[in-house]
Amino acid sequence: MDREDEVWRHDRHGIRSMSKLLMFVLLGLAAYLILRGMGRPKERTKQKRREAEKMVLCAHCGVHLPEGECLRSGEHCYCCEAHRVIGPIERRP
Ligand SMILES: [Zn+2]
Repeated sequence: MDREDEVWRHDRHGIRSMSKLLMFVLLGLAAYLILRGMGRPKERTKQKRREAEKMVLCAHCGVHLPEGECLRSGEHCYCCEAHRVIGPIERRP
């Protein structure tokens, strides 16, 4: 009987320290998520995804567009067929 009681007490202690540990883990996780959410607003994540693709300028109107969407003609990129037909324009800063 005494032994069983000892085992039960040991188990109860084990469960208690485990739930304590779990609480610390959850608290740490919550703090981590809060800090992460504060340091990285949604706006920035969106911008980062945009930067993943190289941006090019339309040689005619100067509009920015992803390299994958531009119309290439020799060394120049254009935003649309019309601008590709017209060709590049000299722009001064
Ligand atoms: Zn254009």
